[in-house]
This record gives sequence, structure tokens and C-alpha cells, in this order.
Amino acid sequence: MQTDSYRHKGMRRSLVKILREKGIRDPRVLDAIETVPRHYFFDKAFLEQAYQDKAFPIGEGQTISQPYTVAFQTELLQLKPTDKVLEIGTGSGYQCSVLLQITPHVYTIEYNRPLYEKANIFFRKHGLKPHTFHGDGSLGLPAHAPYDKIIVTAGAPVVPKELLRQLTIGGILVIPVGNENTQKMMRITRVAEGEFTREEFADFKFVPLLGRSGWDGQE
Ligand code: SAM
Repeated sequence: MQTDSYRHKGMRRSLVKILREKGIRDPRVLDAIETVPRHYFFDKAFLEQAYQDKAFPIGEGQTISQPYTVAFQTELLQLKPTDKVLEIGTGSGYQCSVLLQITPHVYTIEYNRPLYEKANIFFRKHGLKPHTFHGDGSLGLPAHAPYDKIIVTAGAPVVPKELLRQLTIGGILVIPVGNENTQKMMRITRVAEGEFTREEFADFKFVPLLGRSGWDGQE
């Protein structure tokens, strides 16, 4: 059984200090990072790595995102406790657990079956209740649309049109877009029915967004 000791809490406080120094300001995001035990997502052998500001392998060739990346994307979402949010790329479930600290209305979709199943076991074990789905999230999750916020946690070649269609008016999509080596973080806001504003932020490096409106649709 994993425990959350004073030592772990102290390590999280230090991590939050680092994120603050790197420019993260949203108190909801910083509180969420301080609350979620990131070491629960790691094998015992790698516990020391859990509170370093680094991405880490989670199997199936995928990674748990770097805490700074999780904080940066979550801050860009301007998440409120009433928001309905869709996450594309459940992975380990860490980003989803951070989102759940801010709003209970979280939908998350994962393409890789073993990771989807592992994340479900994790959520059940910890009493977390996101709506989880297995499938191609590059097409969004139209059955439950629209969403106030959509966050994509894999690197996309283009902004999938399906995701834009699934935003509410005023809704925000945060997505890294670029080539296989580097992606620019983008925030797209649906300001009116057919009207979107785009903002570009720093470069990041994500694993590829697969699926029909991801890299699989580029061949
Ligand atoms: N959010 C995750 C976390 O907190 O651990 C990190 C995710 S990892 C960087 C990217 C994830 O996106 C991988 O688990 C990968 O399998 C998933 N993925 C890639 N393409 C996808 C798609 N089309 N639909 C859903 N998930 C996808």
C-alpha cells in the first residue's frame, strides 16, 4: 500500500516552489500539484524521481508529463470548478488527477488499451471518478461534447477540426502542435460560433498524438 508521508508532502512543496520560480501563478494549479501524490504513479524503485521536474517513462513507450508541463497546460486552460473538461491522452492518470482537484467534471480518453486499463485501476483504487474512455481522442469525444476546456497531452501535427467543433462558445483548447521533435504550445479560444483566437507559447516535446486526426492521418 502506498503512503503519503510528511517527506513526500515536503518534496511536493519544494516542487511547487520550483514551478512558481518557473512562472506558474494560478493558485488552483499550484494547490492541485501540491495535493496530488505524484509518487503514486511511480514504481517503488523510482520513487526518488517522482518529485523531480522531469517526464518519466510509464511503459508502452509513453511518459508521465513533466510537472512544469502539466502546470503550464493546466494554467493555460484557466480552469474553473464548474468547467467540463476533456483530456486527450490519459496516460498514467496524473494530469487527470490534477484536473480533478479543480473540477469534478473530467472526461479523459486514452488510445493505448493497457494504459487505459492501468489508469482505470489507479482511479478506482484512489476513489477518483473521471469519465474514462478508450479510443482515438484525436477525434475528440463527440458523444459528450461540448466541453468548456480541452487539453491535449500528446504532440499533434495540426489542430484537429473535430476538437474545435466540440468547444463551447468561450471554450478553450490547449494543444501542442508541431513536428515529431518539437511542438509549440497553442491556446485556441472559441470566441463566437465560427470565430477562434490563437495564441502561441513556448516549445515543448511530447510523444506523438496518434489516430485519424493525429499522425496516423498524415501518411
Ligand atoms: N496525460 C498523461 C499523464 O498525465 O500521464 C501523459 C500522457 S503521454 C505524454 C501522452 C498519451 O497520449 C499517451 O498515453 C498516449 O498513448 C496517448 N495518446 C496518443 N495518441 C492518442 C489519441 N489519438 N487518443 C488518445 N490518447 C492518445
